[in-house]
Amino acid sequence: MDDKPNPETLSESSERFFSFGVIADIQYADLEDGYNFHGNRRRYYRHSLLHLQGAIEDWNNESSTLRCVLQLGDVIDGYNAQYKTSEKSLEVVMNTFKKLKVPVHHTWGNHEFYNFSRDYLTNSELNTKFLEDQIVHHPETVPSENYYAYHFVPFPKFRFILLDAYDLSVLGMDQSSPKYQQCMKILREHNPNTELNSPQGLSEPQFVQFNGGFSQEQLNWLNEVLTFSDTNQEKVVIVSHLPIYPESSDSVCLAWNYRDALAVIWSHECVVCFFAGHTHDGGYSEDPFGVHHVSLEGVIETAPDSQAFGTVHVYPDKMMLEGRGRVPDRIMNYKKKGFHF
Ligand SMILES: [Zn+2]
Repeated sequence: MDDKPNPETLSESSERFFSFGVIADIQYADLEDGYNFHGNRRRYYRHSLLHLQGAIEDWNNESSTLRCVLQLGDVIDGYNAQYKTSEKSLEVVMNTFKKLKVPVHHTWGNHEFYNFSRDYLTNSELNTKFLEDQIVHHPETVPSENYYAYHFVPFPKFRFILLDAYDLSVLGMDQSSPKYQQCMKILREHNPNTELNSPQGLSEPQFVQFNGGFSQEQLNWLNEVLTFSDTNQEKVVIVSHLPIYPESSDSVCLAWNYRDALAVIWSHECVVCFFAGHTHDGGYSEDPFGVHHVSLEGVIETAPDSQAFGTVHVYPDKMMLEGRGRVPDRIMNYKKKGFHF
């Protein structure tokens, strides 16, 4: 499919159910512009806040059908830790989000853990688990406290699932804990480099310290929620800081055990799309099972004269991502039902 849907399709008059906003990798810091690790992408640390303000103004003005915004992680930059400005910068960004007229759901990325411990995040405004919905009489769909994930229903028959891609990780975790030891073991087994942030020579380049993965416990929970959604003919949107589909991302940016997550998702009918951040350059691919993987362009590497956010409009037969600036439009049709009647 082309990146740009034709205008006729976009202006189609079919009934819109609701809309939601998406934004990724704001990475705010009160710093002069800098560059990424490879020195080939400019980072606009200060301007990222203005990009966020612009997105919020648009979301507040544009759409009466907007139900929520999904913030895909890395809301402030790791540099804040070095300058001891983590709390101040988080406050600045959270105060900006308070202008939004709809709820925002925050995912956690590696930069959250460069600035804060998991315990700190759990008690911070970045924990939006209070917005979760519970399914009565289905205790298997209640997430455990061992990871930061939950599901909610912004509109009847549409379930959104927020995943914790740093459930398995060496970031933000108490180094004396058994889980840290277990995660360090997994990382070292796949990455013999002294610098664990380096993918050099790796056959599976996603095994670097700035990535993480999903525990079996979280995947089992995801499987239960998707089983419920299948049974109840819901459509599902999944969000995670880390992408899980190689065709939609740089291979160095994938979740450690992305294949395990794909296996769970592919064993269900209900998943329409998977939104992630982390890659900054963006990416998109529809997988062989008809799931649309969108890796959103990162705000931090977006020039002041451009933009990087989107609004997704939900219809009876598809979702349409209306991209702004660097974010392309995407049409995401729902899966065709199998021929098994
Ligand atoms: Zn990231």
